[in-house]
Amino acid sequence: MRCTLILVGTELLNGATLDTNSVFMAEELNKAGIKIDYKLTVGDSLQKIEDALKFAKKMSDLVILSGGLGATDDDLTKEAIRKFLDKKFIIEDKELEEIKEKFRKLNIQFLNKNLKEVQKPEGAISIKNDVGMAPAFFVDGIAAFPGVPRELYNMFPKFLNFYTKNYCKDLDPIYIKDIIISGIPESILEEKIKGFFIEPNIEYEFLVKDYGIIVRMQTLDRYKNTVEKIKEKIYNSIGKYILTEDQEKIEDKIFKLLEKRNYTLSVAESCTGGMLSSTIVSVPGISKFFKEGLITYSNEAKIDRLNVNKNLIEKYGAVSKEVAKEMVIGLKTDVGISITGIAGPEGGTKDKPVGLVYIGVKVKEKVLTFKFDFIGDREKIRRKAVLHSLFELYKILEEDE
Ligand code: AMP
Ligand code: MG
Repeated sequence: MRCTLILVGTELLNGATLDTNSVFMAEELNKAGIKIDYKLTVGDSLQKIEDALKFAKKMSDLVILSGGLGATDDDLTKEAIRKFLDKKFIIEDKELEEIKEKFRKLNIQFLNKNLKEVQKPEGAISIKNDVGMAPAFFVDGIAAFPGVPRELYNMFPKFLNFYTKNYCKDLDPIYIKDIIISGIPESILEEKIKGFFIEPNIEYEFLVKDYGIIVRMQTLDRYKNTVEKIKEKIYNSIGKYILTEDQEKIEDKIFKLLEKRNYTLSVAESCTGGMLSSTIVSVPGISKFFKEGLITYSNEAKIDRLNVNKNLIEKYGAVSKEVAKEMVIGLKTDVGISITGIAGPEGGTKDKPVGLVYIGVKVKEKVLTFKFDFIGDREKIRRKAVLHSLFELYKILEEDE
């Protein structure tokens, strides 16, 4: 089973919008065991969408489009599909009622042009849109989705489920296991774990991200257990470097541990300027444990708010192990993190280069500091500091179990 994706939208060609939809669809299709032949990106042009459809239909069993399903004049995807299939448009009464009801609920006037959103080529099956207006549809091997990522994420899995059940009798679903690793160089990591991959059916690759390395193992669903066994071997060998698995976020894992112990969490940030607090606050329910996030950017703030000794700053500098330690001790909390570093691009010296970050972590009476030399631009260094601070906290909390 093979498919081609067509991404529709002039904004995808002129750099205004990054195409993230095809990344999402590719992952979902890959998991389902459907291979992608081509990804085509076309602007909002009837002719070009038709050209892309002709090519895609010739090459693949399934063609999936995203974008251009709305009510405005530049939304041409439906018309292109209708023309290509030489069908007429229909509107189902039930779907018309449903969309009118959505407009009523939102207090938006339903205009004639909105009819376009429920029109579909004759014979098309609709996929219910729980988060927006226009439903996606599927007809003669062509599926079309709105470009709005949230709507695509809502409908695509439903479509894929329907499609694989009805059209792919002997598909071999794929099993993917991602292990996210940090603090060990890629070459050493490979030396440590490559010996575990002796089975021919298991593929593995390293995806290097700025927060660490993803070890992605991929196989057919029926070899899932073998992957799980390899995973255990990896844990036994380099478990202390493993951050998380799959989509699981480190902040969610910390939340679970705080919940278990009923610990309060506070943070003091310098170079990350609130990024750590923002990451923590993204976890639903964290208000029960997150007490405060202080952005102590200046020396005075570190002294006033966290009781950092002025002499210590003068002696060692604000970016130092000693100050990171005092900062975290200054937090009135069970569990705390402090971050102080040089995010650049200016401000680095030979002794203290850009990317130097000290992190303090406290869990009750235990206080530890960590030194990092991050590489990257200002944004990357700040993001790495946030992730690594959470990772270090997680390890200590877990050890404390
Ligand atoms: P459309 O359905 O073409 O009207 O697109 C609606 C919104 O979705 C616009 O804000 C687009 O920028 C966005 N969008 C369209 N295609 C994509 C894509 N491939 N990836 C991410 N966003 C997209
Ligand atoms: Mg568009």
